[in-house]
Amino acid sequence: MSGGGPSQAYRGRFAPSPTGALHAGSLVAALASWLDARAHGGRWLLRIEDVDQPRCVPGADQLILQQLAACGLHSDEPVLWQSRRHAAYQQALDRLVAAGLAYPCACSRKDIAAAQAALGQTRQRHSAAVYPGTCRAGLHGRPARAWRLRTDGVPPVQWTDRRLGPQQQDVAAEVGDFVLKRADGLWAYQLAVVVDDADQGISDVVRGEDLADNTPRQILLQRALGLAQPRYLHTPLVFGSNGEKLSKQNGAQPLDLADPLAALNAAAAMLDLPPQPSPLDKALAAWVGAWRARWAAAAAR
Ligand code: GLU
Repeated sequence: MSGGGPSQAYRGRFAPSPTGALHAGSLVAALASWLDARAHGGRWLLRIEDVDQPRCVPGADQLILQQLAACGLHSDEPVLWQSRRHAAYQQALDRLVAAGLAYPCACSRKDIAAAQAALGQTRQRHSAAVYPGTCRAGLHGRPARAWRLRTDGVPPVQWTDRRLGPQQQDVAAEVGDFVLKRADGLWAYQLAVVVDDADQGISDVVRGEDLADNTPRQILLQRALGLAQPRYLHTPLVFGSNGEKLSKQNGAQPLDLADPLAALNAAAAMLDLPPQPSPLDKALAAWVGAWRARWAAAAAR
């Protein structure tokens, strides 16, 4: 339907981090991923991304599942929790290390800043320094803290987002060798998401646009691990009255479970879908029809 993508059966997912309840912004990604799966006659999976345990809020996973259920969005397969997937992530890291594509790093933030200053670099990305590659040449007796993927010599990554169109990022220059396993022993989002998307056979990633600039790193990891590359569709973000993107960090209100259809209608409006009256199941079915027609038209162009 969206043309040119993987030929395997459609498998989509919604992968919230349980750092709080779903809000109006996260429902847009949830609804879009569900609609896209339904419109393609595919399956929709839920994955709880609780690798960053210190940021997780106890009970938020169950609350998110309840919120989605109240909106009529149910996982077609058992829910996957990333906190139970340590062995799979370790295996992927071991493979990358054996292939010479990942290496241990002993640098602290201070070390990285000092190495950058020595190189005359001040460039910062998301306030994290672009790693200058110090430990590619070995640890020289220092203890390993984190593990990183090599990006040196890798050409810019080009990919096409179904909504945003052609994209490009020079990961080596703009991000540098990025972390796969953190100094605190926790798995990095990039590695966990790539391993899980592959193990769950995800053909289509539909998620918020704030995550779009992670995609090139994930594509590099897919290539390094010899995994299939899913199609990507990044959905519009919702901004609060203060002009900031809605997020749990800036206090977005949890979805009101008393009126899930109102919440869904607000999410649908963000996706340029027309408002629907109750009942909920008819509203969802109408949006599936509209979504299917939209992407069929896009594929025919
Ligand atoms: N867990 C991420 C989040 O809640 C989403 C990851 C993804 O969809 O790739 O922001």
